[in-house]
Amino acid sequence: MPGEGPANAKVMFIGEGPGRQEDLEGRPFVGRAGKFLDECLQSIGLQRGQVFITNIVKCRPSEKSGNWIKDRKPAADEIAACARYLDRQIELIRPDIICALGDTARSEIFKRFSIEEDTIGHVHGRLFVAAGVKVMPLYHPAAALYDNNLRQIILTDFQSLRRVLSQSQLTNF
Ligand code: URA
Repeated sequence: MPGEGPANAKVMFIGEGPGRQEDLEGRPFVGRAGKFLDECLQSIGLQRGQVFITNIVKCRPSEKSGNWIKDRKPAADEIAACARYLDRQIELIRPDIICALGDTARSEIFKRFSIEEDTIGHVHGRLFVAAGVKVMPLYHPAAALYDNNLRQIILTDFQSLRRVLSQSQLTNF
């Protein structure tokens, strides 16, 4: 599940890895978390088709749990196996701003751009500039599904993203 979006996208969202629905459809963020991501985008006047959306790992990390198959966090070797693919995506699309969704993506993107390690709880909604690229870590939209406070925090962080985009004239706000 490579991700999708225009090759000239100015904004790139990077999640953790595909879930069940994404695996079935071959598209990123099409499940419940994706619906909330769409809502966040719309709240700042962005359409999904204007941004590039992908993940740290390109295959669904899953495990058996009784009769169920459930999602799990990607393992270090899975992240390493997908690293070159993600590097190339970033190189080719050359986004002006990368939004890392959740702590797994935050950690990987911080490492890539040599940004000092810190938790998503501290750095969500803050703008970092490294190697000419802007990076904004955001809480993962799935975190909002069961927590209304986080939902509000994420929507507020998207307003910070909107301000960054309008200041850098990355879109026609
Ligand atoms: N969660 C993610 O991190 N990525 C997706 O594509 C969907 C859910």
